[in-house]
Amino acid sequence: MPTEAFSTDRRSLILGAGAAGAAAVAAATGVFAGARPALAAAPKQGPMKPTVYRFTLGDFEVVTVQDGTVPMENPAGTFGVNQTPEAVSELAAANFLPADKLINGYTPTLVNTGSEVVLFDTGTGAARLPAAGNLAERLAAAGYSPESVDVVVLTHMHGDHIGGLMADGKPVFPNARYVTGATEYDFWSAPDRLTGPTEGGAKLVQANVVPLAEKTTFVKGGDSVVSGITAVEAFGHSPGHMIYNLESGGRRLVLTADTANHFVLSMQRPDWHVRFDMDKEKGVAARKAVLGMIAADQVPFVGYHMPFPSVGYLEPMGEGYRFVPVAYQLDL
Ligand SMILES: [Zn+2]
Repeated sequence: MPTEAFSTDRRSLILGAGAAGAAAVAAATGVFAGARPALAAAPKQGPMKPTVYRFTLGDFEVVTVQDGTVPMENPAGTFGVNQTPEAVSELAAANFLPADKLINGYTPTLVNTGSEVVLFDTGTGAARLPAAGNLAERLAAAGYSPESVDVVVLTHMHGDHIGGLMADGKPVFPNARYVTGATEYDFWSAPDRLTGPTEGGAKLVQANVVPLAEKTTFVKGGDSVVSGITAVEAFGHSPGHMIYNLESGGRRLVLTADTANHFVLSMQRPDWHVRFDMDKEKGVAARKAVLGMIAADQVPFVGYHMPFPSVGYLEPMGEGYRFVPVAYQLDL
């Protein structure tokens, strides 16, 4: 190879690289006339977070669907009502959480057993749109429609669980039958609940649940909803609050509903009283029993107010449990 030619070629290559580099700098800075300035004109889109999570449990397909999230003030006023605000703030800070705010999410769970589509709880309904009340639209993103739901299970009858049963006075899940705890229904549907502290809740039950009573099966602990799904009593958060044991193909998932509603404060300190627990001491007892069972059995659970996708494990830690959110465990 002629040395001269090589040198020339190499020199022009180096010059070329230099020129390209200069052009790149000019384009980025817009220094030279005629160069295309960096516009940075794409508007920011705002936060985007997942609201649907679909996975397999044995022969079941499970979908957690976030109906919405609502910010709340004063965590101590809800999740540590028998504690000093300082004690609650300290535990929050130790877990990288602010002392004065929290995000409360609502996550119904859909289970396709292969022969029935079972939906657990229904979100807030239109009452909290647009922050929450988005269940139907997000079910569609997961490949399911309200029409495809065969069974709606109500874990209990607080507004964020039964609000999505009706829209404009009509059932949102037109082909569904319903399952709920007999104790819960008897409490809320009794006429004397329509006055006093239960008034608001009882009125919603009259509007959304009572009209569906003829299509409802009332269960107690140990009863089966469909094959592989069994009701378990966990009274306290509400008088007849039920959780559900899901089993398929040798896999198990516990649906804990509102047994524990803050992934740090109620898990690490299950004995702290919670404002929304209608019977505070029974709420504590239910938390200790259910969380202890999940940790001992080392099974995953899905919790209605856990941070999305609302599925995790529990590791014993001090006087309570550490919430371990799922990563890839359910895919194995
Ligand atoms: Zn709830």
